[in-house]
Amino acid sequence: MFDVVVAGAGPNGLMIACELALAGVRPLVLERLTGPTDEQRANGMVGQVVRMLDRRGLYARISGSDAPPQPAPGFVFGAFPLRLAELADNPLYVLPVPQRVVERVLGERAAELGVEIRRGSEVTGFDQDDDGVRVTLADGEIVRARWLVGADGGRSVVRKLAGIDFPGVTSDDSVSRTAHVSVPSSAVDPATGGLVIAGYGIVPPFQHTRTDRGLIVWATLPGRDPMISTVEWPGSLEFDAPMSLDELLASAARVVGAPVVARLPTGDGPHLMRRLTGGNTRLADRYRAGRVLLIGDAAHVHSAIGGPGLNLGLQDAVNLAWKLAAVVAGRMPQTLLDTYESERRPVAQRVTMSTQAQSVLIGPGSDITALRVLFGELLAVPDNTRRIAALMAGSDVRYDLGPGPDLVGRWAPDLVLDTGNGPVRLAELTVTARPLLLDFTGTLAAAAAPWSDRVDVVSAKGDSEATALLLRPDCYVAWASTSDRPDVDGLRAALQRWFGPAG
Ligand SMILES: Cc1cc2nc3c(=O)[nH]c(=O)nc-3n(C[C@H](O)[C@H](O)[C@H](O)COP(=O)(O)OP(=O)(O)OC[C@H]3O[C@@H](n4cnc5c(N)ncnc54)[C@H](O)[C@@H]3O)c2cc1C
Repeated sequence: MFDVVVAGAGPNGLMIACELALAGVRPLVLERLTGPTDEQRANGMVGQVVRMLDRRGLYARISGSDAPPQPAPGFVFGAFPLRLAELADNPLYVLPVPQRVVERVLGERAAELGVEIRRGSEVTGFDQDDDGVRVTLADGEIVRARWLVGADGGRSVVRKLAGIDFPGVTSDDSVSRTAHVSVPSSAVDPATGGLVIAGYGIVPPFQHTRTDRGLIVWATLPGRDPMISTVEWPGSLEFDAPMSLDELLASAARVVGAPVVARLPTGDGPHLMRRLTGGNTRLADRYRAGRVLLIGDAAHVHSAIGGPGLNLGLQDAVNLAWKLAAVVAGRMPQTLLDTYESERRPVAQRVTMSTQAQSVLIGPGSDITALRVLFGELLAVPDNTRRIAALMAGSDVRYDLGPGPDLVGRWAPDLVLDTGNGPVRLAELTVTARPLLLDFTGTLAAAAAPWSDRVDVVSAKGDSEATALLLRPDCYVAWASTSDRPDVDGLRAALQRWFGPAG
């Protein structure tokens, strides 16, 4: 019997497998595909997840850079440029890497941690009782587990078999087209890197450029062919032929009102040639049914606008894993798992609010143009830009973790600590995914000693408004003090609430 079976080795299934392994559980991952998929999805990660990966030592491996992540100087929201460099405390981090790189690194990390991934194993059914789950595979094999995590994507079989509803809306009026292209150097503006279109002007790079007729994006990423994307609202979504470069260029010409010239790329692929019609915004009405839990796209689907998917899903995985591991180990009651849904489902609701709002803002027509004039005026106020940046980053999330300073329930800020052996970044202390007590008073080690098998204590000096911080493995602050004489009873209560009785 396995402690945990994870259905799906997409990014979120791999992430929870790594986190479970760090927490001492050996999960089995079942993946229906026999090898990595050719499908091209995310072009990058946007938001707090970039820093979360840094806090597991994965940012350097995915980005190929030893330097810590830095906030993005600019980004886009609903085809509005966000001037983030002007913000004093910019919360938005972006890591522009293809999803297949993220999946490769997470797969390698899972293997290092001893996770078993069985490819060519499709989950087709399960039944559960109070003791566990019997998972049925397409070839008839039965795998027994104490818990099943559905990380099997938007069409999740696990979600459907668990009887969990997936209410929301399906839109059927938009077509988005994307292709890698090659253009002559004369078509690239040397000053901005934008795409020069005779009769229209310059489409700036990475911005979403809206006209009354649709949207066009020109993206140039290092080591990859440039990409042109369009979105239109044509009224009919019937297509006879597969997507082609000519179809994309005709769409781009309609959007900008002038001919657009490009060729197919000549270098090694994979080259993208994609048409997507319509879209879904749906949220599971429960994240748990008995011994079955959902994460990632199995729990929520939405437009990819603004790139929020991996920020949401990978942090679902990080939130659930340590809780599930504590329940598996018998240290914590199953009620701890209720906090997974109560903390993460509202975050998914905010993401769908954000993607639906952006989808309206990029829409065609003069009424949307009027709305954009007003929205543009609001975005000229830096505080509003900061608010949108925090929404996209997910840094405005505050879980209800009980009373205390404002830091409680928030994701721990990046800190540089002096532990007596030179400066240490907080991200270096969280790679083990163990609970962490940061004690800036040097007085709390004795109070936390009964939890020393589970909780690391670091006495340090740090540039923080707090005098002590208790971090859960997902880096959210479970307890904090701003007093020189911290409330030791409050600390013990938080240790017990999140990590179980004193040892
Ligand atoms: C066009 C597009 C662009 C996107 N761009 C971005 C972006 O720029 N940034 C961003 O953050 N996000 C983006 N996203 C969203 C992101 O790709 C998803 O959120 C992410 O892939 C979800 O990961 P997942 O692991 O939950 O599901 P998936 O990636 O769907 O993985 C599910 C896995 O489960 C397997 N599986 C399915 N059924 C079974 C079964 N019955 N048994 C066993 N295995 C099964 C599948 O084969 C698959 O490997 C984009 C999505 C799309 C479609």
